[in-house]
Amino acid sequence: MRFEGIHHITLITGDAPRNVDFYTRVLGLRLVKKTVNQDDPTVYHLFYADERGSAGSDITFFEYPGARRGRPGAGMVHTIVWRVASEEALDFWEQRLEGEASVIERSAERLRFEDPEGIGLELAVVATDDEPLVAEHPEIPRKHALQGFDAVRAYAADPERSRRLFEESLGFEPDGEGRWEVRGERRGGWFAFEPAPAERGVGGAGTVHHVAFSSTLEDHNAWQQRVAEAGMQPTPVIDRFYFRSVYFREPNGVLFELATLGPGFATDEDPAHLGERLSLPPAFEHLREQIEPALTKLPDPRGAWKVS
Ligand code: ZN
Repeated sequence: MRFEGIHHITLITGDAPRNVDFYTRVLGLRLVKKTVNQDDPTVYHLFYADERGSAGSDITFFEYPGARRGRPGAGMVHTIVWRVASEEALDFWEQRLEGEASVIERSAERLRFEDPEGIGLELAVVATDDEPLVAEHPEIPRKHALQGFDAVRAYAADPERSRRLFEESLGFEPDGEGRWEVRGERRGGWFAFEPAPAERGVGGAGTVHHVAFSSTLEDHNAWQQRVAEAGMQPTPVIDRFYFRSVYFREPNGVLFELATLGPGFATDEDPAHLGERLSLPPAFEHLREQIEPALTKLPDPRGAWKVS
């Protein structure tokens, strides 16, 4: 039983319109689902991914309108890493991000920058046989596009506290340098711990809420059981409609989710029109007339290129 890499990463935004603009117009991802937070249907849950809404490429945001910026500390993810194909792609992105994001560091293999709310983002040139998970965008050549996640990097007070769970229960493979590979039959990624800053972390806009790893539908219950047997306190399996979820906090405090590969985002929408209208899970559909007019107005991410 192995996880098929990272499933999705969920963050908090205080500014949903700007968030849509940055992740779709600038980074070129596709808004594949526009729905509400199932724990608070008055605010959005936005999902950006490749063209098909694949697990492994899916960055999602809970909207907390006007939320203050947070700051990552121990037990929080501070950087999200996507794969790109080549150093040329890094050149392309370094130019494209000018005036859109603050670039922090550029090397032959990496480009580090921050999104408008301060979360650490990184593009890395990675040689892999994993399928590139790419979205279409008129200004971004396919060969330069983001190809899905490579890694998340988190702060830990004491990485050793998590080792047993990671290696004996979750099947993470250590590389001896504070990183673990999370690889299944088709796809893999990395989870890394780095020493935490002295200051405590503060949740808020521009911070990561949780990271989810991919489970097959068949293995999902067994994973939940295995996490419980390891002494964690996993939630029961929760039906999130687009996938099923189990949540628990690993020993350093990072909130993990185990999410199923499927049913997926095309379960309630035509794959050609993902994310164009507000999707409500069946349990919320009867509230549409109250929910929809009260939500923040968002730009239409592909409105400008419908002419083609
Ligand atoms: Zn999640």
